[in-house]
Amino acid sequence: MSCNKKVSEVFRVTAEDIQREKAPRFDVRVCSDCLNKLRADARLESNYRLGQAILEFSLIVPLVYLGLLALVTVSGASFFIGAATSLTGLKFVWNRAGPRYGYTHNLAWSFRSRDVVIALSLVVSGALLATIAPRLF
Ligand SMILES: [Zn+2]
Repeated sequence: MSCNKKVSEVFRVTAEDIQREKAPRFDVRVCSDCLNKLRADARLESNYRLGQAILEFSLIVPLVYLGLLALVTVSGASFFIGAATSLTGLKFVWNRAGPRYGYTHNLAWSFRSRDVVIALSLVVSGALLATIAPRLF
């Protein structure tokens, strides 16, 4: 983890900050913002509330679905577009949730991230489009 902000004061990350027995193998120095974020992550805190995640998920899925449907009316390839969207979403989920899980081994927390929720919305709306898109042609 690196912090490229130009700040006057940097802090060395200690074992206690990241809830481990040993200090990080490399000397990690971050600004106070990053240090607080590291500490919150280590305690598995998330300021992204579950209700907010559900709300955003339920808003993004229909929006993406409608957007994709507009593409389908132009190209007619609903299965292909749906599958491509789903796979892209899966890749985003993997890229975002994977490292979070690798770091904490806490699956629930790994998914408590807006990026992951948006990616999951892509997966679901793509799958919906690939399977139950109205036959327009
Ligand atoms: Zn920083």
